[in-house]
Amino acid sequence: SALPEHLQETIRRRNEVLGPGYALNYREPVEFVSGHGAHLIDRDGNDYLDAYNNVPCVGHAHPRVVEAVSKQMAAVNTNTRYVQESLVDYAERLLATFPEGLSKLSLACSGSEANDLAVRVARYHTGGEGIIVTRWAYHGLTREVASFSPTLGKGSPLGPNVRLIDPPDPRLAAPGSTLAEHMRKQVRDAIDDLERHGYRLAALVTDCAYSSDGIFTDPVGYMTGVVEEVHAAGGVYIADEVQSGFARLGDSMWGFSRHGVVPDIVTMGKPMGNGLPISGVVFRPEVCEEFGRNVRYFNTFAGSSIPVAAGAAVLDVFEEENVQQRVLENGTALRAGLEGITHGSPYVAEVRGSGLYVAVEIVQDPESLEPDRARAEDVINDMRHRRVLISGTAKGNNVLKIRPPLAFTSADVTRFLETFAEVAKDRLQAG
Ligand code: PMP
Repeated sequence: SALPEHLQETIRRRNEVLGPGYALNYREPVEFVSGHGAHLIDRDGNDYLDAYNNVPCVGHAHPRVVEAVSKQMAAVNTNTRYVQESLVDYAERLLATFPEGLSKLSLACSGSEANDLAVRVARYHTGGEGIIVTRWAYHGLTREVASFSPTLGKGSPLGPNVRLIDPPDPRLAAPGSTLAEHMRKQVRDAIDDLERHGYRLAALVTDCAYSSDGIFTDPVGYMTGVVEEVHAAGGVYIADEVQSGFARLGDSMWGFSRHGVVPDIVTMGKPMGNGLPISGVVFRPEVCEEFGRNVRYFNTFAGSSIPVAAGAAVLDVFEEENVQQRVLENGTALRAGLEGITHGSPYVAEVRGSGLYVAVEIVQDPESLEPDRARAEDVINDMRHRRVLISGTAKGNNVLKIRPPLAFTSADVTRFLETFAEVAKDRLQAG
C-alpha cells in the first residue's frame, strides 16, 4: 500500500539532508509521535505493538522516568566533577546487582563508549593487544570497537590483533564433542594463533545474548572453561551486557550470571536510562586501578545529573513493577506460543531464546539449515504491515529478532501471537 503523503515527503527531505549510513526499518517505513508501554502511535492514531525496541525497557514514556528526568532537568544538570549524591546513590544501587568483586563503576554515554573504555582498560591491565570475539559480533562504532565488530562489513576491516570464534550454537560442535569442549577449543586455538602472530591476549569480549550472531542464550555452562583459558593466557573476560543486561533474559539481571561465571569487566547501555544516553562499565577494582592512576578519563555528559536521574528511575520501576518476574512469565508464554505456531514448518529450524529475547530461525530447509533471508524479510514486513514490529538478525538476516520493551504484557503476548499466526499461515506453511 502507498505510504501517506506526508511520510513520503519527510523521507524525501531526510534523504536530502542526512549524512551517510542512515537506513530505515521496513519496506513501509513508519513515523511515531507517541508511545506507552510496548505500544507506539503513528500520526494517524494507529497503535503498533513494539516487539523490537530494547531501549525503552520499562516502557515508552514511562511516567516514572518522565517525572524524574523532567524534575532534574528543571533543577540542574552538573557533571561528575561536582559532588553529586544522586550519582553515588545510583552507583551503589547498580553495583548491588552485581556479584561480589565487581565493585567499580564508570559511566559513559553509549554502548560503544563503554566497550571502548573496557578494552582500553583491559589492554592497560594485561599489557596484551589480542581481542577475541564471536564470528558475527557487533560491539560498537568507535574505530577501536569497530576493529572487533565483524558485522560492519568489508569497508570496516578487523584489526590484525582480532580473532573470531563460533557463537555458542550447539549445532556447531563436532560429533561426539560437547558445546563446552567446542567453545574452549575455539578460544584456545584463537589464543595460540594470536601468540603465533606476536599478540598476547588482552580480552575475550562476548555479547551474552549473541544478538548479531543469531541469539544463542542456551544452553548455559560452557563459559567456565572458556574463562579459564582466557585467564590462563593472561587476558580478561569482558561481558558485553548492552543487549542481555537489565533482566532481558528473564532469569537474572545480567546475562553472565546464567552461566555461573563472574567477568572481569562488564559493559552495559541501551536500556539503562530508558532512552536517555547513559552507559556503564563495571570493573573488578584490581583491573582498573593502574589505568585510573595514570590515564585521565573525563566524559563530559556521562554521569551528569539528568541521565543518572533516568537510570535511577529505571531501577525504581524494576523494583516497583517486579520487571524481571514479568519478563520471565511473558517470555515463556511468548516462546511457547511461537513453538506451537511454527511446529512442523519446513522453514523454521528453531525457536530459541530466553526471557523477552526470542529468535525464530528461518531456513530454506530444515536439513541444510541454509538461511532463507527473503522469507524472513517477508515475515518481518508482513508483521509490520499488520502493525507489529520485529526485526532480523544473524549473518543471513534470517533469524527473526523478537525483543520487546520489558513492559510487554500478557495481552501484548496474545496480540503478538495472533498476528504471527496469520503471517505464518501465508509464509511458513509447507507448499
Ligand atoms: N554492544 C552490543 C552487544 C550492541 O548490540 C550494541 C548496539 N547495537 C553496542 C554494543 C553499541 O551500543 P551503542 O549503539 O549504544 O553504541
